[in-house]
Amino acid sequence: MLHETGPHPEQPARIVAIERELAAQEWLGFERVTSPAIDRAVLHTVHPEAYVASIERACANGGGQLDVDTVVSPHSFEAALHAAGGSVRMVDLLLDGDAPYAFSAHRPPGHHALPARAMGFCLFNNIALAARYALDARGLDRVMIVDWDVHHGNGTNDIFHDSDRVLFVSIHQSPLYPGTGPASDIGSGDGRGFTVNLPVPPGADDRLFCSLVDRVAVPLAQSFEPQLVLISAGYDAHREDPLGSCEVTEEGFATMTRSIRWVCETLGIPVGCVLEGGYALGALARSVAATLAALNEPAAAPGTDVGGEAPPAVARARERIAQWWPALAGP
Ligand SMILES: [Zn+2]
Repeated sequence: MLHETGPHPEQPARIVAIERELAAQEWLGFERVTSPAIDRAVLHTVHPEAYVASIERACANGGGQLDVDTVVSPHSFEAALHAAGGSVRMVDLLLDGDAPYAFSAHRPPGHHALPARAMGFCLFNNIALAARYALDARGLDRVMIVDWDVHHGNGTNDIFHDSDRVLFVSIHQSPLYPGTGPASDIGSGDGRGFTVNLPVPPGADDRLFCSLVDRVAVPLAQSFEPQLVLISAGYDAHREDPLGSCEVTEEGFATMTRSIRWVCETLGIPVGCVLEGGYALGALARSVAATLAALNEPAAAPGTDVGGEAPPAVARARERIAQWWPALAGP
């Protein structure tokens, strides 16, 4: 709440709106836990010490603009430490068996943050830190990240670009900020095929987003067999959002959640969501609640809510990705 950004879409009122909605629904049965500041050694697995120090200094000096749209205030550094700490603690809770699913709802968001550069409202890459921690500290071999924020998660994309231990799948509007994430960006080195970019046009709706989850992300999970799935849960693909031009609804987010939860349950693995964007306050709050409600439901096989044939764009994506993931060959 003290990460003050002035007149800015990424504002404290986002958390107020989410808390109000969830409180009205008795937190959907979820237990609330606090998020400690991230351990500095864990933070430095993604962000160099000099960069972390530069953010700390900028905040200590009163804050200001880090780039054209990324603002910090005196307490932003501490907020960012706890946002990152929340996603890392979530990994511990999930891997310790305390919960099969969880949601880390913090600001600032993280998926645009590069190792040594803040951008797109993001200071530290919360989900990349969580994945890195799961691999390095918790000994996992394979983590899958599904990013359905309307913007491409360029930071996460780049951090794991050459890794075959993190399968990064992003559905994002194109063209849109930050301009990265073409379908042709498939990773590099050992990580070729482990970066799966699924750009969608303005106007993309529940059907397209859910079909990409059901017919691309779910079979990829079945092939990759991750030990943990993390979702970069942004809600700016919502039809009411002022920053994106997509047409996703609360039910769309719920459907995507159900499909991912289903495949995680069949794999016997946990799933954790990390809040990214979402700037229409009411839509954001309702969509987070819809996600939590869907996590609570008995897992249902994907496809049941989509119906009909896959949109042509989905068939083309499957064909393209099948060279790396043969299970996606065919319609
Ligand atoms: Zn976004």
